[in-house]
Amino acid sequence: MTSKSSNIEHDIATLLASDKAQLWLNPLLNNNEIDEPLLTMKDIVDAENRLLKFAPLLEKLFPELEQSHGVIESKLLETPKMLVELNKKSIENIEGKLWVKADHSLPVAGSIKARGGIYEVLCFAEELAIKHGLLDVSGDYTILNDVAVRELFSQYTVLVSSTGNLGLSIGIMSAALGFKACVHMSVEAKEWKKDRLRKKGVQVVEHKDDYSKAVDAGRSAAEKDPYAYFVDDENSKRLFLGYSVAALRLQKQLQQANVIVDEQHPLFVYIPCGVGGAPGGVTFGLKQVFGNNVHCFFSEPTQAPCMLLGMATEFKDDLSVYDVGLNVDTEADGLAVSKASELVGQIMKPILSGIFTVEDERLFKFLYQFKESESIKIEPSAAAAFSGPEMLFNTVQGKLYVKNNCLSPKIKNANHIVWTTGGLFVPEQEYEKFYQRGFVTFNKSANR
Ligand SMILES: *Cc1c(COP(=O)(O)O)cnc(C)c1O
Repeated sequence: MTSKSSNIEHDIATLLASDKAQLWLNPLLNNNEIDEPLLTMKDIVDAENRLLKFAPLLEKLFPELEQSHGVIESKLLETPKMLVELNKKSIENIEGKLWVKADHSLPVAGSIKARGGIYEVLCFAEELAIKHGLLDVSGDYTILNDVAVRELFSQYTVLVSSTGNLGLSIGIMSAALGFKACVHMSVEAKEWKKDRLRKKGVQVVEHKDDYSKAVDAGRSAAEKDPYAYFVDDENSKRLFLGYSVAALRLQKQLQQANVIVDEQHPLFVYIPCGVGGAPGGVTFGLKQVFGNNVHCFFSEPTQAPCMLLGMATEFKDDLSVYDVGLNVDTEADGLAVSKASELVGQIMKPILSGIFTVEDERLFKFLYQFKESESIKIEPSAAAAFSGPEMLFNTVQGKLYVKNNCLSPKIKNANHIVWTTGGLFVPEQEYEKFYQRGFVTFNKSANR
């Protein structure tokens, strides 16, 4: 441990350094005196309306969006067989229903990054076209596919830094609109993700460093170029709002599935977290829609609990997980981040219920169990949230949360949504390796 961590509460550092699964409860939940809200429901509605204006253009650009008329959305699936599977190994019975928000199958980008990443590229395209007098905000957005507009876009480069999936999302969308695109990939990024981008004509810059370093490199490359636009995963409100739209869509899906969310029917949502934008945006949206009737938890690898560290120390010491003796040594490439977004952390302060960590071996086990029980394929990062319900029911902290929030009498009416965040494009041979590892772990673990 470095001297930096001497300032932080010793117990948090020790807790995280143990590399064991934990549930941390946010002590500032519902403390609404904290700050003026940075963003509001109106911002989410604006984002949704912007996406609707772009839908006809997206339908033209991506044949896979024909059926949804240009709307990029995933299904809400009830997964009773997976619940049975989870309950076999859970000490306490997980009460309520289990659902999966299937972002692993989001078209175009293949992960939850389709929401934020694509939205931000569209915002930039809109801004640029308006500035050059080529687009009228109340007009037809398919005009952005015209030669004159594409010529304008081709002068600009969209840059982003990524552990893989954000690069895919930004790269694919930028290339489809005619922008040049450049993705700075951190050391975790899988080869197949880089190959997929290169095939679309996207420039891939490989870094031997971790994600925070790749972000710095991308940011400074963009600063030198007046024709560059940098998507800043650590600070972008556009990304955040793109993610938040999921809440409005989920609200409709819950209504269609006759799922009640009210005082007597609490909703629990568990989402994998990397830098924080995706789960943060979704959580922000859900709290706007459902208020105190929704309880949102993030999931992080035991080797990269960057948001837990940031929030537990209130970002005071600018710590990275290396400072508490961890190494970001995880197969969950989408979550392999050493330092979380402080912007997101601040917004989460009064609304996030807690954060739990999960060991890598369990990711593979969940991946295997999900395929066996529900025949659905996901990537390791996307399996991280499956331990949410058992962390709530089995741990001391989880039980405390239920008790302190007066949820005991209502918990049998609960709905649990596990957000599966990526997997659609994983090549078959890669998936087979994940599955085999899960199979081995599953058969080894008699009790858990
Ligand atoms: C990026 C990613 C996340 C987390 O999103 P952040 O915005 O980095 O917190 C979760 N799951 C997958 C599969 C991802 O690619």
